[in-house]
Amino acid sequence: MTAVLEVQLQPRVREFLAGSKKLLIGGEWVDAASGRTFATFDPATGEKLADVAYGDATDIDRAVKAARRAFEGPWSRMKSAERERLIWRIGDLLSERAEAFGQLESLDNGKSAVIAQVVDTQWSADVFRYYAGWATKIEGSTVNVSMPFAPDAEFHAYTLREAVGVCGQIVPWNFPLLMAAWKIAPALAAGNTVVLKPAEQTPLTALLLGELFEEAGFPPGVVNIVTGYGDAGAALSAHHDVDKVAFTGSTEVGKLVIDAAKGNLKKVSLELGGKSPNIVFADADFDLAVAGSVNAWLFNHGQSCVAGTRLFVEDKIFDDFTAAVAEAASQVKIGPGLDPTTQLGPLVSQEQFDRVTGYLQAGLADGARALTGGKRFGDRGFFVEPTVFVDVDPSFSIVKEEIFGPVVAAMPFNASDGIAAAANDSEYGLAAGIWTKDISRAHKVAKQLKAGSIWVNQYNGFDTALPFGGYKQSGWGRELGAAALDLYTQTKAVNIAL
Ligand code: NAD
Repeated sequence: MTAVLEVQLQPRVREFLAGSKKLLIGGEWVDAASGRTFATFDPATGEKLADVAYGDATDIDRAVKAARRAFEGPWSRMKSAERERLIWRIGDLLSERAEAFGQLESLDNGKSAVIAQVVDTQWSADVFRYYAGWATKIEGSTVNVSMPFAPDAEFHAYTLREAVGVCGQIVPWNFPLLMAAWKIAPALAAGNTVVLKPAEQTPLTALLLGELFEEAGFPPGVVNIVTGYGDAGAALSAHHDVDKVAFTGSTEVGKLVIDAAKGNLKKVSLELGGKSPNIVFADADFDLAVAGSVNAWLFNHGQSCVAGTRLFVEDKIFDDFTAAVAEAASQVKIGPGLDPTTQLGPLVSQEQFDRVTGYLQAGLADGARALTGGKRFGDRGFFVEPTVFVDVDPSFSIVKEEIFGPVVAAMPFNASDGIAAAANDSEYGLAAGIWTKDISRAHKVAKQLKAGSIWVNQYNGFDTALPFGGYKQSGWGRELGAAALDLYTQTKAVNIAL
C-alpha cells in the first residue's frame, strides 16, 4: 500500500488492519486451534495486507458446536420481534460505517472503494433490514383435513414453519460482504444459527461484520466466522451436525459440496457460475444499450456470476454497436480501488489474473479479434484491460467458459432466425439481458430464455425483494426475496384428532 493511499484510510480501517484477525467462535475471538495464519493481499500492489487465522476442520467443529448451543439455547427462545430488532441493528451499523467497510473491501478485493461503500455495503445494510422485517412474518397455515377412511372423525390441522438449525455458509471473493449478508440475514430471520466461511482471498470485511453482531447484542454463537481455505469449506459441508449448507462459488466446487453433504443429507443450496447472454436488437435505444452492455460485462471487473459476457447483437447494427462498446470500454479509468476516480480496479488475485490472461491468449490463438484490450494493464498489480472480442465461434473457450474477468465475446444474429437457441446454448442459466423497444418481443424472448433473472432494457437489475438463482448448472434454490426463507425453514404438519 502506498503512503498516499494509507493516509486516506478511515481510523477504524487502520486500527483493524493493525490488530490481530482471529476466528469468531461462540462470541469469542480466538486463534485457530493449529495456531496457523495465512496472508491476504492487496491486489492493486500484490503486497501483503494482513495475516488472518487459518481455520481448519478442528475450528469448524468448534464453531458448529457453538452454533448448536446457541440454536438449542437462547436463540430459539428469543421472541421473533427481538430477533427483528437485532437484525435491523446490523443494517443500521453497516450504514453508519459504510465508508470503513467500503475501504476495507476495496483493499482486500481491489474493487472501487466508492462502489464498495455505495453498492456492496449499503445494499448489505438493506438486506439485513429487509430480512429483519421477515422475522415476525414467517407463518404456517391451517389446513382443511378430511380423511376419506375416517368420515366421522374431526381434525384440526396446521403447519409450523420452523428454522432448519445450524447453517454452514460458504462465500466467494467477488462480493465478500454482500454474499455474507445475502446468506446470514435470511438464516437469522428464520431463527437459524450460522457458521460462515469467507473466501481465503477476501476474509477481512466478514471479520469486521462479525464485530457488529457482538455490538448489536446477539447471543454468543449465533453467528460464527471461520476464515480459512477450501479444506475448512469442505469440513463445513461434510459436518454431521450441520443441517444446511449454502454455497456461492464455482460450479466445480458446488458439485464437491453436494458430495460432501450426502453424509447426513443436509439441505444444500447453490449459487454457481454463469455465462450470461446479453441480447441487443436493432430497435433498442442505442446509447442506453451501449452503456448498459458495458455495465453488463465490466461491473466488478467482470468478476460477477451474472456478467453478460456473451453479447448477441442484431446483425444490422453489429459493427457500429461493438465499435461503440469497445470505445466506451477503452475510456474506462483503470487504477487502484482506493482512488475515487477509478472505474476498473485489479482482479482479485494472482491466480485470477493468470486465469483471465490465459483466456485472452486462448481467444487470440483461436482466431478471435480484440476490438480493444487483449492484455494486462501496466506492469504491477493484477490489472487487465477491458477486452471486446469479435470474430468468435461458439466453440471457443472464451464463448463457452466462465472467465470471471473483463472480457466479452460479441456475436451477430439475424432476428428472423430467433435468438433463444443461441442464447440458451450454455451449461449455465443464471441471467440474461434483452434490449429492445418492442415490448411483445421482450416478453416473448424473456419466456424463451432459460435463466433465473431476465433484465429488459437494463442489466444487473437486482433488488432485495426479487428472488435470484440459476437454471441448469448455475445452481439450486433461490436467494433474496421471500424465496430465501424457503431455504432456511422447514415445514411441520400437525394434525390433531378432535
Ligand atoms: P471457489 O468455488 O473455489 O471458492 C468459493 C468458496 O468455496 C471459497 O470460500 C473457498 O474457500 C470455498 N471452497 C473451496 N474448495 C471447497 C470445497 N472443496 N468445499 C467447500 N468449499 C470450498 O472459487 P474460486 O476458486 O475462488 O474461483 C474460481 C472460479 O469460480 C472463478 O474464476 C469463477 O469462474 C468462479 N466463481 C464464481 C462465483 C460466483 O459468484 N458464482 C464466485 C467466485 C468464483
